[in-house]
Amino acid sequence: MKQYTDRMVQWDKDHTWHPYTPMKAWCAPDHEPLVLVEGRGAILKDSQDREYIDGNSSIWTNIHGHGHPRIVQAIRKQLDAVAHISFLGTTNAPAAELAYRLANLFPEAKLPRIFFSDNGSTAIEVALKMAAQFWQLQGEPQRRNFVSFSRGYHGDTVGASSLGDIPIFHDRFGHLHFPVENVKSVEELAILPSFLRNEVAAVVVEPLVQGVAEMHLWPRGMLAGLRKLCDSTDTLLILDEILTGFGRTGTLFACEQEEVIPDFLALAKGLSGGFLPLAATLTTARIFDAFLGEFEEQKTLYYGHSYTGNALACAAALANLAIFDEENVLERLQPRIVKMQELLDELRATRHVAEIRQCGFMAGIEVRESSYTPYPWQAQVGAHVCLAARAHGLLTRSIRDTLILIPPLCITEGQLFIAIDALRKAINEVCGD
Ligand SMILES: *Cc1c(COP(=O)(O)O)cnc(C)c1O
Repeated sequence: MKQYTDRMVQWDKDHTWHPYTPMKAWCAPDHEPLVLVEGRGAILKDSQDREYIDGNSSIWTNIHGHGHPRIVQAIRKQLDAVAHISFLGTTNAPAAELAYRLANLFPEAKLPRIFFSDNGSTAIEVALKMAAQFWQLQGEPQRRNFVSFSRGYHGDTVGASSLGDIPIFHDRFGHLHFPVENVKSVEELAILPSFLRNEVAAVVVEPLVQGVAEMHLWPRGMLAGLRKLCDSTDTLLILDEILTGFGRTGTLFACEQEEVIPDFLALAKGLSGGFLPLAATLTTARIFDAFLGEFEEQKTLYYGHSYTGNALACAAALANLAIFDEENVLERLQPRIVKMQELLDELRATRHVAEIRQCGFMAGIEVRESSYTPYPWQAQVGAHVCLAARAHGLLTRSIRDTLILIPPLCITEGQLFIAIDALRKAINEVCGD
């Protein structure tokens, strides 16, 4: 096993390029990357038989645990039939049924149309192009602008990253981005000249919590207020629920908590239960109907990807939804959200824990040198704490000095205790007294 691991690590270091990774440090001879080989429920195992709690749901994707038999079986069954067929000019049963199921998750079929793609960034891109073309078709070509919120994150393709406002990720590529107006709050949007002149095509926001912005929580009512404001000028609202979808906030979707229905809803990460790449952009009948016309009218949306409507991924997503229903996942999650809150409250007493931001079953734990003094960013304290937590059985990542805890919904109370205890020990070890 050791020999096998060494060979894999060598091949990796020689030939791969990891996302968001300073590759010099990664490839250094003394860096020993974990080679993960197995997952069961909330537990991951590495090539040396060490076990870890998957504290960030494999980058926010996994929902009901690794190897959930129901999802595994659904994928196997579909695999026996066919893995992938084109959604261009033909259809397939898992994709059609998934569209039906997703549409029926919303009251009165308010989001009845589903466009499939492969990842969060493309789910956003689709919404952008639909919104842009919608206004052309409506005879309001002046509605060309897009507005996003400060510290927002919507993905890394050039279109999606145009909306982003995380300086370290986005500034370098500013010259490639299309112009987007950025506001700090709903109040700022309300006085934005282009908004008042009806020049905004759509506003994009991550509802309730901005994950990449170190788990920044929006004030209660922000989302409902934003919907109301958008309605006042007939501006479209795009909700990015790529992180918040599928139970993370305690409800199936975050928008339910403020009774908001967007014009576009972007879903990805947890859509397939975290098993396969799949995304969906849901929209209203009003948007869809604008694209209906005779061929010569050229109202068609010319957008698509090779793997649109992938049958395996859609089969996984159907199983994901069925598990929510049949295993009463959201009901059973509520006491564990309370438990997480209790355990985090205890963690607050730990020196150097400056702030804890929790939204449903997700939390960011910010460490600082002292209450108001952050550590110098070059010290990479958050990353060191996460590395130290591995020795205590927890695998997760930080964003700057905010430790991210986004476990699979299936994590047990006992595992949750171990995870938060691992963070406490790691903070003490790295930050000292
Ligand atoms: C992860 C994420 C995205 C991008 O999704 P990818 O699948 O990584 O392209 C967009 N928005 C939010 C809120 C996310 O968390």
